[in-house]
Amino acid sequence: MISIEEALSLVKSKSHPLLKDTTLAIEKSGGYIINKDVFSPINMPPFRQSAMDGYALHLHNSLSYHLVDEVKAGDNHQPILNKGEAVRIFTGAAVPDTANGVVMQEKVITNGAELVIEKQLPENYNIRAIGEQVKKGDLALAKGTKLTPAAIGYLASLGITHVSVYKKPTIAIVTTGNELIEAGQELSYGKIYESNSKMLQNALYNLKFYDITIHKVEDDYEKTLSKLKEVISENDLVIISGGISVGDYDFVGKALQELHVEEHFYKVKQKPGKPLFFGTKNHVVVFALPGNPAASLTCFYMYVYITLQKMMDRDDLELPRIQAKSTNGFTKFGDRPQFLKAIYNHGKVTILEGQSSAMLQTYALSNALVFLPDNISKINIDDLVDVILLPN
Ligand code: AMP
Ligand code: MG
Repeated sequence: MISIEEALSLVKSKSHPLLKDTTLAIEKSGGYIINKDVFSPINMPPFRQSAMDGYALHLHNSLSYHLVDEVKAGDNHQPILNKGEAVRIFTGAAVPDTANGVVMQEKVITNGAELVIEKQLPENYNIRAIGEQVKKGDLALAKGTKLTPAAIGYLASLGITHVSVYKKPTIAIVTTGNELIEAGQELSYGKIYESNSKMLQNALYNLKFYDITIHKVEDDYEKTLSKLKEVISENDLVIISGGISVGDYDFVGKALQELHVEEHFYKVKQKPGKPLFFGTKNHVVVFALPGNPAASLTCFYMYVYITLQKMMDRDDLELPRIQAKSTNGFTKFGDRPQFLKAIYNHGKVTILEGQSSAMLQTYALSNALVFLPDNISKINIDDLVDVILLPN
């Protein structure tokens, strides 16, 4: 059994960017990482642009100007201004080459075609220079930049329609267990509704991974073997739920061994989620998560999350951690470090009831996990504790 720290560092070192390029329309690229430097095809702004509704002036020594024309946003005519002349202008409109200052309309007194400004303007005041944001041919966004809404808007403003990124992984979720039935079926004696596949699928959707297939196998060695062989050959990431414990009908470990999946660890000193397996076969990453639903989800957030980030070449590998004051107490039994379902709110955190690894009821209300290391067995009210923020 290895420690959480060892397990985290093995997941980090054994997971790699997928390095499969794809080109996407920018509107479909949210959450991806740019994998080639993007250079600007244009100057932005492409012309001298007015930053205000007001008047463009050909500056001179007096505060009085004579109005000669008008330029609206989108107009492409260029009035010629002599010294002391002005044109009416609006935000985003092209400032004539012969104007060298724009004054806000609120700072002008007009009388017909004559206008008076309050004070002298600095040269090129309220005029956005050509290429002020980025110049044609210069780096617009560097390799490694995450495509956020702002980044996509910026690329759109440069007239860029497509962007090169690393592909997202294709992911298989495999549930195991003879006791599992689908919602909609009658709940007969000894059966429970299968929940982990929908839960993990949604955790993946939340992180913007959509290329997911779901598979179910019974607790049967041959069936487990052939299903795992199939999904490992067809996916980048395989997430197995259940069947990895020490019961007589847990066949996942034996099947992974038979398929030559290299084991990096099995069993982590933590609660919940002790029976956690992590391995790889060539570039394919395989996790076998414990079947207990809360343990499964916590292992997803703590470990599978890192692989997903690595595969995308993102550098924020773990969920954000902060410290917060606990509003209640908690006593830990046993010596394993523990992840506790909790609600974080404005610097304070409340540890919830129902910490069993089988229970999702309070997980459904959680937005955080409190981490209790092995050297702390008791949390008192107002103690500062480690909080992992969940991406809900
Ligand atoms: P296992 O890891 O296969 O020993 O399963 C541990 C516990 O989790 C058992 O009570 C299972 O019934 C339950 N379990 C396993 N897989 C699922 C699942 N996909 N949905 C809901 N409960 C599950
Ligand atoms: Mg089972």
